[in-house]
Amino acid sequence: MSRRSPTRPTPVNPWRFETAQATVQIKTGAYYTSVWERAINVWNSKRVFKFTIVKGPAQITIVPAQSDENSLIAKDYVGVAYVDHDATKRIISVRLHLVHTLLKKYAYTTSQRVNVAEHELGHAMGLAHNPIKQSVMYKSTRYVSVQPVDVANVRYLYSLPPAQYFINTAQTSSTVNANKDIVTDSWMKVIFNSHERESERVAGTVH
Ligand SMILES: [Zn+2]
Repeated sequence: MSRRSPTRPTPVNPWRFETAQATVQIKTGAYYTSVWERAINVWNSKRVFKFTIVKGPAQITIVPAQSDENSLIAKDYVGVAYVDHDATKRIISVRLHLVHTLLKKYAYTTSQRVNVAEHELGHAMGLAHNPIKQSVMYKSTRYVSVQPVDVANVRYLYSLPPAQYFINTAQTSSTVNANKDIVTDSWMKVIFNSHERESERVAGTVH
């Protein structure tokens, strides 16, 4: 699975971190900290990207309930990834969030919550949604963990050295919040919502 076909679709975004590593600060409570730690350990075990959990400010911040929590709940978003990148395609910072209220409402198991966290970490690295259902980056995954195709896509995204990958190699300091893109996920159980509604929502909110 690690070999890439030239015709294989590559569901990755144009942006990524400088190299295949990033620091993570987890600001959630004990239960969700364990969920995120499990998801981080799954990704780290694949050896294509290294997440390092730190106590202080980090490149990736995992946040508890936000000020717009009610609007997330109203839209049935169970996970969100806010990725800030600059014009050179470098990721500046990432905020990840699981909507605890909805995960509880729809009775996601702990393992399923870990799957959702793995999906959000995929966005944090620069992965886009994968139309293949057997991928952790499938837009409505709940039951699927990190798959070989996901590992291959991270390897692909970080295969070029920074000097070749980024639009310019000089890292500027004045680009924070430039070109801010918001990636929003909607994962609804089909029994609660029609496919049509879900696809409309996804089409309208995911870039
Ligand atoms: Zn997503």
